[in-house]
Amino acid sequence: MDFLLTQEQTKLKESVINFVTKTLNEGAHERQNREDFYLEGWKKCADFGMLGLPMPKKYGGLEMDLLACVGAMEGFGYASKDFGLLFSINSQIWTCEAPILRFGTEEQKNKYLGGLISGTLIGGHAITEANSGSDAFSLTCRAKRSGDKYILNGTKMFITNAPIADILLVFARTDERKGFAGISVFIVEKGFAGFSIGKPLKMMGLRDCPLGEVILQDCDVPVENRLGKEGAGSAIFNSEMEQERSCLFATHLGSMEKILEDCIEYAKTRHQFGKPIGSNQGISHKIAEMKLRVEMSRLILYKVAWMKANGLRAPMESAIAKLYISESYVATCLDAVQIHGAYGYSTEFGLERNLRDAIGGKIYSGTSEIQRNIIATFLGL
Ligand SMILES: Cc1cc2nc3c(=O)[nH]c(=O)nc-3n(C[C@H](O)[C@H](O)[C@H](O)COP(=O)(O)OP(=O)(O)OC[C@H]3O[C@@H](n4cnc5c(N)ncnc54)[C@H](O)[C@@H]3O)c2cc1C
Repeated sequence: MDFLLTQEQTKLKESVINFVTKTLNEGAHERQNREDFYLEGWKKCADFGMLGLPMPKKYGGLEMDLLACVGAMEGFGYASKDFGLLFSINSQIWTCEAPILRFGTEEQKNKYLGGLISGTLIGGHAITEANSGSDAFSLTCRAKRSGDKYILNGTKMFITNAPIADILLVFARTDERKGFAGISVFIVEKGFAGFSIGKPLKMMGLRDCPLGEVILQDCDVPVENRLGKEGAGSAIFNSEMEQERSCLFATHLGSMEKILEDCIEYAKTRHQFGKPIGSNQGISHKIAEMKLRVEMSRLILYKVAWMKANGLRAPMESAIAKLYISESYVATCLDAVQIHGAYGYSTEFGLERNLRDAIGGKIYSGTSEIQRNIIATFLGL
């Protein structure tokens, strides 16, 4: 067993930390207050190669294995003060680029991947609807075949990147009788007739990551824009989620590590009653718990990445990783606010922002309760 990143993977992680610290953080606080998407930052990330980390060189990617991607995302989370941008980027990579690469035709890959990786196109995926969230396959958006096109009707909710997206992978029902096997996926361009974006949605955290409603009203989608076979939607969704649960949460691990370091420093330097607050067990034990969460999160995450890099499926392990890391992140952010007292509660230190951003992680990519259901199902319950 080897628990260390290779020299090359470590170098990549360090170069990401360097890049993010030097080029992405300035003005992050103000952008979040204004709820401004950082397009220039997106382009800088594209130039650096972030948008194509796991993608083949043939389409402009860096072709990194999954462990290297996890290390790089950990570095991104460690250094970034802009979790909205980071979340937007990860959504595009794991829920738009990855399924196109895995299930797309050569024409679809050539048409879309280059632009997504180079930053000229922005993408996302749209499955959630007002009345189908956790029960994603109960969606009611319809796609009816008519000659060489499909006609899509329905409305999608809470779609990351929707207000700025050039393409979205839209999940729609093509066969009423087949339940989850009657769902298909379509690459929908923003210029297609009948496609529009509803009002942007204001969220508790990740405020500079645009989220919105997608409206499909007799939206014409050419047959060649169906991703995978008709009825392959649920398999595509499950594959997307497994990838996202393995990689997106590496950013949370990186952020937890930075918060831990900051809390150690604060606990050593903040004095009350004539001694550092860290000399009180009430504080030092909180910090010990933070360290425990970082170590346990890293173990499970690297295990999942190793499984995926070795061609193994990891549906239960990725659910365990997602559940453990997202809940650990919230607990760590809460402890960090408490350790910093009123300074933690103030908007100056960014700790309340971390907490607001972290809470979303218990909801997107499948809620905590759904991850527990997945684990229980694998245990035969
Ligand atoms: C920041 C953010 C970004 C998002 N981005 C996207 C995106 O890009 N594309 C997209 O399609 N969607 C996106 N979503 C939507 C997300 O996938 C859904 O919010 C999520 O699947 C949960 O659905 P829901 O919010 O409708 O909650 P519901 O499904 O209504 O659940 C409400 C509560 O009931 C619990 N619950 C439901 N069913 C069960 C059960 N069987 N057992 C136990 N508890 C249960 C849930 O865990 C939750 O606590 C995003 C959400 C957020 C917060």
